[in-house]
Amino acid sequence: MQSIQAVRGMNDILPDAVGWWRRVENAAREVLESFGYREVRTPLAEKLELFARSIGESTDIVEKEMYAFQDRNGEWIALRPEATASIVRSYIQHGLHSDSALRKLYEIGPMFRHERPQKGRYRQFHQIDAEAFGTDSPMIDAEMMHMLSLLVERIGISGVILHVNTLGCPECRQTYKEILKGFLKEKADLFCPDCVRRRETNPLRVFDCKVEKCQALLDRAPMLIDYVCRDCRAHFDAVKDYLDKLATRYEVNPRIVRGLDYYMRTTFEVISDRLGAQNAIGGGGRYNGLVRDLGGPDVAAIGFAIGVERLIMLLQQEREQILRAPRFFLVGLGEKPLEKAFLLLQQLRGRGLEAEMDYGGRSLKSQMRRADKSGARYVLILGENELVQRQIQVRDMLAGTQELLPLDAIVEGVEGLRD
Ligand code: AMP
Repeated sequence: MQSIQAVRGMNDILPDAVGWWRRVENAAREVLESFGYREVRTPLAEKLELFARSIGESTDIVEKEMYAFQDRNGEWIALRPEATASIVRSYIQHGLHSDSALRKLYEIGPMFRHERPQKGRYRQFHQIDAEAFGTDSPMIDAEMMHMLSLLVERIGISGVILHVNTLGCPECRQTYKEILKGFLKEKADLFCPDCVRRRETNPLRVFDCKVEKCQALLDRAPMLIDYVCRDCRAHFDAVKDYLDKLATRYEVNPRIVRGLDYYMRTTFEVISDRLGAQNAIGGGGRYNGLVRDLGGPDVAAIGFAIGVERLIMLLQQEREQILRAPRFFLVGLGEKPLEKAFLLLQQLRGRGLEAEMDYGGRSLKSQMRRADKSGARYVLILGENELVQRQIQVRDMLAGTQELLPLDAIVEGVEGLRD
């Protein structure tokens, strides 16, 4: 008899993989709780109307991707495609706003979207979701992005970039939408049919279009960031200023519009350069009107969601590299430096530190290429001059920084470097 398989796009997490999940979840809990977020657990299913009203009728999620069904009483139910709407519903239903305190909540769990499954995209996937209710202060926007960056780092993932944008408020967006519609109308015959349709239903979504031709056309489109009102601009400037002060690295990307209707002002995405097509790890933004629109008080709010599967994919890639890579790579330029590098190599290994070199002693460029290929975190570079001055260059390949250290104490000097 034929055996029964799991539903397409819904995965088992087997015992061998569970360790990765725990590691990510534990790091997330630790970081979120240290920032004052408290856990909630909302149901996996909600009334369909909740998502239609919050995410928006004319979004891909609600139009095409929802797992919705009528239950035995004829009521329309949906498996949650994201957590924000459920958390807002719960926040209103249980009067969590009543003491008018700042309320920070998080949830970790499965979400459901009927998308076409591929690597990094599933029909049941998991998110870590954080929401902060009760303040419009740009401090909380910056803090949230700072926390997100820290979380990704704490999990052990590098090579991610935070993209930030502002969507303005509904008023300034309305003016801009008309301007954008005008631009799209002018070039109507050049855009794909989906973009032409979006022009009427949800024009901002053209920026999410995957068709290259449309993306190229949008290079000349008017950008929302240039049309936001004075208040929204001041808010965005303050957010950026706090990010700078927190030393959180980011790039302003005027194309981050996010697909959902409820976002306004600050929006952001964390993107990895190592995930291929599904390169977004997470994203979020401000949604000041949503609590009111869902029947609650007029409370400002902001939140984000990150995908656990994608975090784990990155973590596994990184770990594999770490397992294969030596920590140090030695480069010697010229006969004497090369010999010294060879001796240092053995000293490092003698202390249990993984080290490698290119014994051939070729040009700096080719040795550096090998160093890069080896995946070593630190490259120790010794030239004739350094040798005379009893110094050595230590390059941190991850941070892209370089520092000159005393040669004679170098083994002790690098022993404590983190990988
Ligand atoms: P979104 O709310 O669509 O921006 O999703 C936030 C994050 O959840 C994304 O950046 C992904 O990491 C993850 N995610 C969204 N949809 C999927 C999916 N179908 N499969 C796996 N991860 C997903």
